[in-house]
Amino acid sequence: MRKNDSLRIHVINVGHGDAILVEFPDDVSNERRPRFGLVDAGGEDKKTESKTRDYINTFLEYRFGKKPSTDPKAHDYTFEFICLTHPHGDHLYGMMAVLEHFCGPDIPPAMRPKQFWDCGFRHNQQRYRDILSFLVDHPEVRFMRVASGTEFHYDDTEVLVIAPSIDMRNRYDTFGVDVNDASIVLRITHGDGVVILTGDAHFDTWGKVCEEFPRKSHLTYPKTSKGKLDPRDRNRDGIAFLSQENQLDCHLLKISHHGSKRGTSYEYIEKLSPTWFAISCDQATEYSGNWKHKFPHPITRLIIGEESKVYKASNSRIPSVWALRDRTATTAKLGTLVYKVPSSGRVKLKHLGDKKDEDVSVRDFARNL
Ligand SMILES: [Zn+2]
Repeated sequence: MRKNDSLRIHVINVGHGDAILVEFPDDVSNERRPRFGLVDAGGEDKKTESKTRDYINTFLEYRFGKKPSTDPKAHDYTFEFICLTHPHGDHLYGMMAVLEHFCGPDIPPAMRPKQFWDCGFRHNQQRYRDILSFLVDHPEVRFMRVASGTEFHYDDTEVLVIAPSIDMRNRYDTFGVDVNDASIVLRITHGDGVVILTGDAHFDTWGKVCEEFPRKSHLTYPKTSKGKLDPRDRNRDGIAFLSQENQLDCHLLKISHHGSKRGTSYEYIEKLSPTWFAISCDQATEYSGNWKHKFPHPITRLIIGEESKVYKASNSRIPSVWALRDRTATTAKLGTLVYKVPSSGRVKLKHLGDKKDEDVSVRDFARNL
């Protein structure tokens, strides 16, 4: 079996939509069992309906070197959670295919998804209602409504929900919160590496996130010669250091809402200061001549370009235009994007080159990962 010690984020190419496989470092306390979660299962048409399900199956086959075992005693992998960021078609069109397969009669209960995270927005859409009915019939998948502050730990990897805020959730029904602004936003931390996955969050969400997760100042103490923190060991002036922590700093940002002009503002990108930008979008909209409905929108591209320059300039090395482009990747151009996030935070990008309606093969994984 192939091992994995990094956090890997697979932004699956489903065209205009989101489907993100979050692969955690192997569960070392459990015979290095592969462990993963899924954020959305999108695509918006028949062609991409089964792509997410097939991608996960092929990925498991690649990891094990054979088809995953369904022996109830083997419990080969752990499917920790499914997160539906918000109930829009381009995020859930392939969800039933995933649920029906991974909760199917062939799959023993221990290998089924453990939890289903929902944003709590009541959306009157048939496919979403089908998902809810399915989950009622499958209580082994724990249905949870998560909000900012909820956190989960998978060994040394933390998943923190940073949106929707409780305040936003309380306004869903009365003050017309846009369904995109109900999106579950996740901050995933592995060692020094930080990833933020955004769903289709718009400006109302980002305002709340910046308010609820501000830059924090706290006292810290110098380290002893043995490298341990020692409150008695004051610095020269006898004063403890004052350090600042930006809770929203990240290395990899999945750009909100497929690069729409409503999902990205300069102010919040500056606060998150990502090094890498991933955009899940369709070739038809990325290269369309329709300026108004371009995904990613030219305004978003401008913001990303400028922030990349600011980030690099502050490290006194201004990259070439090509280097800037390398930090931003779209599924439309490169196919499925697989980001390796080791605990050092030094992100590496691989891509599989698949089209949205093409399946990925075990060979594609072996050749590119
Ligand atoms: Zn979307």
